[in-house]
Amino acid sequence: MEKRSLQISMARARHKIVVISERCKECGICITVCPVKILDKSSLRNSRGFRYPVASDENRCIGCRLCEYSCPDLAIYIL
Ligand code: SF4
Ligand code: SF4
Repeated sequence: MEKRSLQISMARARHKIVVISERCKECGICITVCPVKILDKSSLRNSRGFRYPVASDENRCIGCRLCEYSCPDLAIYIL
């Protein structure tokens, strides 16, 4: 059981969240749909004044891609 937990933890750490900050319009959809609630608005703004999303803990990303599929501006994707 312990070994299985370790494998799941390592698998989660493989996902990379990429945000193209200049495309973001701060609609917040990605933040709302993320099932593990790791996305939040950055304290920084892009050149249009919008606060783009940042991940509080990328290791908790499960790679579901709901953020990627939901973003109307193709501003976030998962590797
Ligand atoms: S892929 Fe899923 S878990 Fe990861 S940040 Fe996007 S919505 Fe959240
Ligand atoms: S869904 Fe796209 S445009 Fe909306 S806040 Fe997230 S990254 Fe920005």
